[in-house]
Formats: sequence, C-alpha cells, structure tokens
Amino acid sequence: MPQREAYKVIIVGSGPAGLTAAIYAARANLAPLVIEGSQPGGQLTLTTLVENYPGFVDGIQGPELMEAFRKQAARFGAEFYTDDVTGVDLQQRPFRLQAGPLTLQATALIVATGASARLLGLEAEKRLMGYGVSTCATCDGFFFRDKEVVVVGGGDSAMEEALFLTRFATKVTVIHRRDRLRASKILQERAFANPKIAFLWDTIVVDILGEPGPGKGVTAVRLQHVKRGDTWELPTAGVFLAIGHEPNTALFRGQLELDAQGYIRTRPGSTATSVEGVFAAGDVADRVYRQAVTAAGSGCMAAIDAERWLEAQGA
Ligand code: NAP
Repeated sequence: MPQREAYKVIIVGSGPAGLTAAIYAARANLAPLVIEGSQPGGQLTLTTLVENYPGFVDGIQGPELMEAFRKQAARFGAEFYTDDVTGVDLQQRPFRLQAGPLTLQATALIVATGASARLLGLEAEKRLMGYGVSTCATCDGFFFRDKEVVVVGGGDSAMEEALFLTRFATKVTVIHRRDRLRASKILQERAFANPKIAFLWDTIVVDILGEPGPGKGVTAVRLQHVKRGDTWELPTAGVFLAIGHEPNTALFRGQLELDAQGYIRTRPGSTATSVEGVFAAGDVADRVYRQAVTAAGSGCMAAIDAERWLEAQGA
C-alpha cells in the first residue's frame, strides 16, 4: 500500500522507462510512487536473453535485468504499488489517479505504460488464446516440445520468436504477408541459417482451427496467398503472433494528445506532453526505436523534465 495519498511524482508503468524515471526521481529526492501495473517489469519480463542492453558482455535475462532496475530504484527511496491504474483525471491539479481501491494525487505525472502485443482480429484467436495461440514464445514455447508451430510476422520479434521456438519445436514456419522481412539483417541471417525454420511468403492467416480446453487446442491454420488468392490449411499445434504492438494509452485518450497510431505525442527533444506537468517515456511515446535502452534513456529524460518543471512551479 502507498504510504501517502499525495505525491510530487507518480510514475505509471514499471518497464525500463518507468523504473529509470524512478531511479532518477528518487535520487532527486522526489520520493516517487511507481504504480507497477499487473505485469510488473513490462515487456522485458516476457523475454529471455537480452543481448543488446549495454554493459552486459554476455547478455542478461530480461526478468533479472528488470529486478535489478527495481532494486536500484527502491534503494534510493522509490515506493511501489502493484495494481492497474483504472482512471486518470488530468483536468484537476494535482492530477487524480484511480488505482485499485485508491485515489492518489500527483503534482507531476510520468506515463510509462508501454505497449501490448497486437492481435490479428480473428474470432478464433481470442477463443484459442492459451490453447495454442500465444503472443509470447518465451512464456509458452516450452509447451510445444516436438511439435510443429507457426510464427506470424516479419519483424525482429517474429525472428526472435522463431529462433527461440526452434529449441522446442521440430519445425517453425514463419508466415509473412509480404515477400521481404522487416527484421534487422543479423536476425534475418540467423533465421535463414536455421534448418528448422521455413518461410511462407505473401501469406496471411485467415482462420485458426481447433477447440479450446485441456487436452485440446489448435490443430491447423487456414492460410491465404495474398497475390494468388487461394486458401489452404496448414496443420500446426501452435500459433505465435509477432505482428507488433499497440501503445497502452486507452486511459489517456481525450486527455493527452495522441498521434494517429495512438502513441502519446511529446514535444521534440523533450518528454513533455500536451498537458503541463505530464511527461511520457518509453514505448508509449515511441513507435520508432522501442528498445529497452531507448526506453530507459527517455525515462531518465522524463524524471529530469519533471524535476525541472516542479522546481519552476516552486513545488
Ligand atoms: P514490427 O517491426 O512492427 O513488425 C511487425 C511485423 O508484423 C511486420 O513484419 C508486419 O508486416 C507484420 N504485421 C503487422 N500487422 C500485421 C497483420 N495484421 N497481419 C500480418 N502481419 C502483420 O514489430 P516487432 O517485430 O514487434 O518489433 C518492434 C520494434 O522492436 C522494432 O523497432 C524492432 O526493431 C524492435 N525489436 C528489436 C529486437 C532486437 O533488436 N533484438 C527484438 C524485438 C523487437 P510488414 O513488414 O508487412 O509491415
């Protein structure tokens, strides 16, 4: 439970952006409250080895990295509250936030709510989620030992998921809607070189077949060639969706200025949003880079921006 009702700074979100903002705000003696959400640690807790976060020569496990961020913030006096924010009111000063049963007040607010996996929009996808359909290979790959699976998407995430799944599955088929990958060269090359990975180009998933329930699950995907138009079934036990992410901004719609894709707009070179005293950091405001290290960097910026803004207010 939070120790107080009113804080100078509340940070919503606990991925690299939120926790870096917490480290900086805590070290600036602002005693911030971090509302962690129901998935503390953000998307890095859904990954295994992180090899591109600077400072770790041999890589580090995502959850371990986030635990270290959290401990570092706590060491400097950041407080944590594990619940989802269900409402915000940015019209009032101080800002009001509803988190679980509590109403909290914040003079400055840092939004670091990140992004969530995008879905295809098929009815079957929701019905079979957890019964063969997954958005996280690192969470669910283990269940597909000695089975065949498909990965949908052509970006870095799709390649990472496909490579990871080769540890368990006998065959991984990447289904991509175009004839060229979007993924970085290094991941493309690794995927092409892996004998367990096959590619189906210019192909979309139009249905997922199977029944939910214990001992049941996905049996096949119905595919369509986007140029020829023909459809066919491919037997599979698992469907891993890696088609990108949506920013978690539903709470702020109508209160903060968002771009066409729903990401929070920030002033160039700053984390300031359209509402004075509200700052945004990490994937929620970044549809370009979306890396742990860039999220952490913008979390640092948000804490510094908030600190300067509070100082200018005489708070
Ligand atoms: P992404 O780069 O946006 O790629 C999404 C992929 O899904 C694209 O290939 C896209 O096809 C496809 N797609 C989107 N909507 C679709 C739909 N409705 N049906 C079928 N296919 C669809 O997303 P991401 O791979 O999650 O990566 C996001 C960011 O994180 C990127 O900046 C990436 O570099 C970064 N990332 C980096 C690493 C790493 O460095 N190790 C790992 C993971 C992610 P099109 O290509 O046709 O648009």
